[in-house]
Amino acid sequence: MKLSKPWGVQAKILLVFTAINIVATAAYTLFVYQLKTDGIYEAADASLRAGAHAVPRMLPAGYLDQPLQAAPPAQYKEHARALYHYSQQAGLRYVYAFVQENSQSPVRYLADAASVAEIRAHRYGQFLQTYLKPPPELLQTFRDGQQHVAEYTDQFGQFRSLFVPGVRQDGVRYVIGADIDLAYLQARRQDALYASLLIGAGIFGLSLLLSWWVARNLTRPVLALLRVTERITHGDYAARASVHHHGQDEVAQLAAGLNAMGEAIAQREQAMLQLIYRDKLTGLGNRLALDEALSTALAGQHSGVLMLVHLDRLRAINDLLGFAAGDTVLQVTTARLSALWPHDSQVHRLSGPHEGRVHRLGGNVFALLVTDMPTLDNAALYQHISQALEGEPFTLDDQRIDLTVTLGIVRFPLHGKLAGMLLRHAEVALYTAKQAHKPWSEYSAERVVSRREQLSLLGELRRAIEQHELHVFYQPQVGIAHGELVQAEALLRWLHPERGWVPPSAFIPFAEQTGRIRMLTDWLLHQVAQQVAAWRASGTPLTMSVNVAIHDLEDPDFAARVAAALQRHGALAQDMCLEITEGGLMADPAQTHTTLNTLHHAGHRMAIDDFGTGYSSLAYLSRLPVNELKIDRSFIIDLNPHNRSIVLSTISLGHALELDVVAEGVETEAQLRELAALGCDVVQGYWVARPMPCDAFNRWRADWRASTWPTSGTLG
Ligand code: C2E
Ligand code: CA
Ligand code: CA
Repeated sequence: MKLSKPWGVQAKILLVFTAINIVATAAYTLFVYQLKTDGIYEAADASLRAGAHAVPRMLPAGYLDQPLQAAPPAQYKEHARALYHYSQQAGLRYVYAFVQENSQSPVRYLADAASVAEIRAHRYGQFLQTYLKPPPELLQTFRDGQQHVAEYTDQFGQFRSLFVPGVRQDGVRYVIGADIDLAYLQARRQDALYASLLIGAGIFGLSLLLSWWVARNLTRPVLALLRVTERITHGDYAARASVHHHGQDEVAQLAAGLNAMGEAIAQREQAMLQLIYRDKLTGLGNRLALDEALSTALAGQHSGVLMLVHLDRLRAINDLLGFAAGDTVLQVTTARLSALWPHDSQVHRLSGPHEGRVHRLGGNVFALLVTDMPTLDNAALYQHISQALEGEPFTLDDQRIDLTVTLGIVRFPLHGKLAGMLLRHAEVALYTAKQAHKPWSEYSAERVVSRREQLSLLGELRRAIEQHELHVFYQPQVGIAHGELVQAEALLRWLHPERGWVPPSAFIPFAEQTGRIRMLTDWLLHQVAQQVAAWRASGTPLTMSVNVAIHDLEDPDFAARVAAALQRHGALAQDMCLEITEGGLMADPAQTHTTLNTLHHAGHRMAIDDFGTGYSSLAYLSRLPVNELKIDRSFIIDLNPHNRSIVLSTISLGHALELDVVAEGVETEAQLRELAALGCDVVQGYWVARPMPCDAFNRWRADWRASTWPTSGTLG
């Protein structure tokens, strides 16, 4: 948008001023001219009056009363010369005297003024010579005895004349006249006109100068404001009008107003940008900002890495410690991710309004965008990031919070040349890592194929149930002190016609993701219910553990589904133990709680599976109707000093809560002995037995001799 031209205002003001100026100057000039003209006439008339009154005194006493029949006075020419001389001195043309005996008689000269030349040429009024064609005002003066002024032309020239009457001793009227040259008056008037015009022109010029100065000074601040407005309209919200320049006047107020407006617009735009581009909680850029930053990087031919950083335990923290704690975790994560590579000059920071290195894509996913980075492999990247996040432990509500993350990694331009595509690929990589329970995963086109393969497996699951390709394997759990069989865990197996045995890790996570786990769970519940009912009927009852998926726990009908399976096969609730992972506990705490309570009241045992990998708090666990704690096999398989202390604290925690503690993944006798020393209650693992099909399990059970148990006797 183009605002009015800077010249516009000033020109308009100047135009108005000039118009006023012209009118005023014209009026003034006219007025001056009038004054001057009046002065000229007044001066002329004063001279005429003086002349008229001087005439009788310049003539000898009684001259005007002399008899009218007498011969002309001897001195007549002398008088004429004297009167002429006087006229010249007084600035007059002529002075003279007329007489008229009565109103019928002609007007005749009594005296006249004449120069020597005029006398010689007889061009003057001789004594008593008739004045031909007297002006009417002269006759009027004779008639009414009043003074009159006249402007007229006669044989001597053009005059302005004053006629002053007088009366002789014989009663005859005389008139004394004085002339002034009209040409002379006109010349004086002309001079006056020129003088007035000169003055007018001077004044006009001066006021024009003044107008220009005023217009300039008046418009300069306005123009400055205009320029500021123009800058603001072009998006330069930092433009400010200087206020102190203008003192306290309206322009100053306008300037202040404009500045306030600029500031308000800037603030609003900032707020808008915040809304559009920023994540409110962390102040980081959002998905849109990342998209722009990525596009900028790609357009600039940069190479780099985009990492999606998934905070593994945010959901658990939210559920257990509240959303305020979750927010704190997000903020700490933001700070720690932002501090990555702070001084590495090799790493290029994208600069611009919406670009940064760390973005938050919502929930528990951050994005880390690093360009022109020295080549780091994925393991190094993961280590770098997890060190930054976990290097300095922090606690919330006396809980130590470990900021563990999973990374989805893409490299550009290798994995895509468009921002949207890169982001999608990064999501695929993250998903793959989560599925495989790996700390990181880099996008690879082949892995997508294998994912597709897995999806096709998923499509075959229904057929698997119908075609009896699914089997339940049983793995015993034995008491650590005497080696007696206390329980068994049911584990799903799939014997695929082409692929052979498919491990549960290859289809259960996908079945969970797609909600098809329900189908599998129901199938397994029936199998287990049938089996435990059969064992009880044959007089060898055994409690069977069943793994419950998160999806199942979130289902409000789950307890009813379990009850239905038991009822159908005439099984007892006490013969079925339900294993819930810590992740399962955190899914939907309210629903989980209800379901767990219902199952507990129905008479089921309840176990917490994979304990130590999740984030359960002691306070939370103590409120759950749980009977058993299963230490995750990863701690047992690698029983280093660190893991040993975790196992020990888990055992004492379990016992404090009056729970049985089960150790999974016992593969060696050494592990068994160590666990026994630590006070563990029950063991499950390859050292005791691998998961087996039903008949194999029954055979194993019949052959199992607890008397050969190595720790028998050594422990109470
Ligand atoms: P889990 O609940 O932790 O099951 C124990 C796993 O540890 C089983 O793997 C078992 O074969 C394995 N294991 C037992 N002893 C040892 C040992 O001494 N050393 C080692 N290295 N491993 C041992 P599996 O059968 O592959 O199952 C894997 C996971 O799949 C299970 O972990 C469980 O989470 C899930 N799963 C298995 N069956 C079902 C099921 O019917 N329903 C649901 N929802 N999940 C199931
Ligand atoms: Ca289990
Ligand atoms: Ca387990």
